[in-house]
Amino acid sequence: MNTPVIVWLRQDLRLTDQAAFVAAAAQGLVIPVYVLDDETPRHRRMGGAARWWLHHSLASLDADLRAAGSQLVLRRGKCEEQLAAVARETGANCVHALAHSEPWWRNAERAVGRVLDLALHHGQYLLPPGTLRTGAGAPYRIYTPFWRALVQHMPPALPHDAPSRLYPPAVWPDSDRLDDWHLLPRAPDWAGGFSVWSPGEAGAKARLDAFADNAARYNERRNLPSVEGTSRLSPHLHFGEISVATVWRAMAGAGGSVDTFLGELGWRDFAANVLYQFPDYAGTNARAAYDRLAWRDAPDDLQAWQRGRTGYPIVDAGMRELWATGWMHNRVRMIAASFLVKHLLIDWRAGERWFWDTLVDADLGANAVNWQWTAGTGVDANMFVRIMAPLTQSPKFDAAGYIRRWVPELAHLSDSDIHDPPVRPRAYPAPIIGHVEARARALAAHAQLKD
Ligand code: FAD
Repeated sequence: MNTPVIVWLRQDLRLTDQAAFVAAAAQGLVIPVYVLDDETPRHRRMGGAARWWLHHSLASLDADLRAAGSQLVLRRGKCEEQLAAVARETGANCVHALAHSEPWWRNAERAVGRVLDLALHHGQYLLPPGTLRTGAGAPYRIYTPFWRALVQHMPPALPHDAPSRLYPPAVWPDSDRLDDWHLLPRAPDWAGGFSVWSPGEAGAKARLDAFADNAARYNERRNLPSVEGTSRLSPHLHFGEISVATVWRAMAGAGGSVDTFLGELGWRDFAANVLYQFPDYAGTNARAAYDRLAWRDAPDDLQAWQRGRTGYPIVDAGMRELWATGWMHNRVRMIAASFLVKHLLIDWRAGERWFWDTLVDADLGANAVNWQWTAGTGVDANMFVRIMAPLTQSPKFDAAGYIRRWVPELAHLSDSDIHDPPVRPRAYPAPIIGHVEARARALAAHAQLKD
């Protein structure tokens, strides 16, 4: 019991239902370590919005650990080198961690396993990615059969309680100071609007409790960006501040449209499975025919999209919500992503990268799977030739209030005019391209794939 044991933390920044803490606490004196790796070349650098979240989440975890008699050790560099150094400094002989599906984490797990005794535990997903197989023994590529197979294994095991006390090592290893990592924006501070969020385990639990009260109306309201009809748990789930098993167990008895909600948790698992099968999914078209699509190189159009100045109010509202809060409503993510790929004919990877930098819930698997779904290039995908009409989607999903909030130049317009203003105020741009023209251009580019 007196042996120091390392808990290696990554996107699992919680104490409740965290199998690595359970195993380590049963074995010895616990040393929780987070390593920030901006050095390993193939480790994709975390985006700006996610770094903001990480800062606050680490601060919150450290406070929770201190309340349990422990503390968080912060190190910077390559995971295997830093963890080996902590082991040397403390005499620790073993590392416990949850398994992750991002390719750089899997590489890091292999590297750590070469130098230390690493025990990987399950807990980031409903089932470990890669475990479900079709009747023919192949990994699933389509969501619906994947989901049917997944629910056979549900509900997940009952969540573990948080350890009430963690026994510290005789001597703590050196730790960086969180502020010295400069994860928060320096001037200009673009994160003023991020105060809507409460990163950390307590914030995640509060978000779950608030959503549970409204969950019965999820089906009816989840596609309406003007109301808060979804859980907004995505950044908490991405950073592992709450386990997906805890969310499932809390919601499964909630009644109403809970199956639809659980199905969204299934999409999260599905995305991790796709990434597990195709580690380069964020960089490569799953359908190779799309490698020949003549994407436009149009930096001005890309910038207009990024800044919410396309002249399509629903798209601009979404892109401005994203910039201001680090999050965007799912329905609007689909509309905005489709607009970039089809109306502007810009490669989905440019959009994936922008979301990666600006979303607080930026997640390699979920982001890439949804971008490839929208673009029609994915293993499971909407057809490219199905071109979403933003001006129809906007009234259909009652987005007037949402547009009024995020595009104040249009706030004076009536509910019927705001989706496609007949007269535009001078401060608001004309449409960057007409819908009919854009549609024809996209279909023509697609038709060339067959030549
Ligand atoms: P809820 O509707 O309350 O759903 C509950 C949870 O299920 C979410 O928190 C999330 O973890 C999961 N989930 C829901 N929808 C999806 C989905 N389509 N795919 C995977 N998981 C899902 N989600 C991310 O977490 N990170 C991303 O980087 C990301 N990028 C996206 C990019 C595009 C182009 C699109 C169209 C969607 C993307 N999504 C991403 C999926 C989805 O938009 C968000 O998960 C959702 O909007 C989060 O809000 P919520 O927590 O209120 O969701």
